[in-house]
Amino acid sequence: MSIMVPSTTPALITPGRQALDSALHQLDQAAAHLGLDDGLRTMLATPRRSLTVSVPVRREDGRLDVVQGYRVQHNVSRGPAKGGLRFHPGTDIHEVTALAMWMTWKCALVGIPYGGAKGGVAVDPAGLTTRELERLTRRYVSEIMPLIGPEKDIPAPDVGTDEQTMAWVMDTYSVSAGYSVPGVVTGKPMTLGGSLGRTGATSRGVQIAALAALGRSPEGVTVAVQGFGKVGALAAQYLSDAGCKVVAVSDVTGAVYRAAGLDVARLRAYAAETGGVRGFHQADALSHEDLFELDVDVLVPAALEGVITEANAPRIRARLVVEGANGPTTPGADEILAANGTLVVPDILANAGGVIVSYLEWVQNMQAYAWSSGEIELKLRDLMLNAFTEVKSLAAERGLTMRQAAHVIGVGRVAEAHQMRGLYP
Ligand code: GLU
Repeated sequence: MSIMVPSTTPALITPGRQALDSALHQLDQAAAHLGLDDGLRTMLATPRRSLTVSVPVRREDGRLDVVQGYRVQHNVSRGPAKGGLRFHPGTDIHEVTALAMWMTWKCALVGIPYGGAKGGVAVDPAGLTTRELERLTRRYVSEIMPLIGPEKDIPAPDVGTDEQTMAWVMDTYSVSAGYSVPGVVTGKPMTLGGSLGRTGATSRGVQIAALAALGRSPEGVTVAVQGFGKVGALAAQYLSDAGCKVVAVSDVTGAVYRAAGLDVARLRAYAAETGGVRGFHQADALSHEDLFELDVDVLVPAALEGVITEANAPRIRARLVVEGANGPTTPGADEILAANGTLVVPDILANAGGVIVSYLEWVQNMQAYAWSSGEIELKLRDLMLNAFTEVKSLAAERGLTMRQAAHVIGVGRVAEAHQMRGLYP
């Protein structure tokens, strides 16, 4: 860990800056389609609040390290800001801003009453002990405390964070408030007011979106999943449970392939035990790049941004791409995929299952009431399929890609909220 002082004029085009450029490009297209005026477009292109904090962390050996943390509230016009908290060494203010913007459109698209936010800490959680991670999380929360709250901004898990992290967020906030505030964060453990179905919610949403986009029986449909973490591993499991043949998956340790279909449950157990999919005995090794180029029906990118680019898009043979990750496809790649007839179910639709069940968790917290897993599953399916149908029909009606249609709906709803509220003062 080292001190990283963010510059307002970064010398390098970071992956985060590329993600923000992609998000701004998508917004521009939607704003042009909707005929939004320049002032409103600029409002939507800039976050309402953006906080950078330096987080001091006491290491086990007594040293003091300082890492950069961020919380960006992109928009709050439809309700409290909502979005995950990411711990990743590559995160920066640009990436967090892009991710916050995507949260805004995602919440509007699926019709839940939230704005969009994201948090990030530029740190590799695997390089910290549990106690260091706890101290880091608590100090980061105390630094961003003025921004968050159940009616203001509600964090949730994202890359590198989990329900334990959310428990620390909830506790730090509650200790400062003087009473338990479960609604300040979602993706909590069940015992602290978490919701049934939240752990697998993003993956369940990916499965629902993929099956809806397939429009035929999933029996024997071949799938490759890039990223075998919280989202990818369970998406692979649920698609396999539905009858698909998951032939390849990858994670940071490597990629594995089996033409006859992987035993996903065994692979998950293997990865949990060994720390990754590499070396799984019932499969062949594959390179990370080759996974993208497999002749499969469905490709699910479920890791980080910017992995489908102009460089590899021409070689993608999947008929359908379902984005479990946020921002995995660059605008240049989008054009190539569209020209090749590949259907892309965009991130703000395909991975909305997570924030949908986060919303259900928050509603339960605010009412001090709990729903059954059946009720959660039904509501999740309903919201996902409604949004899917709206996007599909708008795309067909206006000759747009599903990403363009999803953005036109999401951006349009936020723009409408702004116009109805008017400008203060
Ligand atoms: N981090 C997830 C996402 O990108 C979930 C956010 C949430 O539940 O608030 O959608």
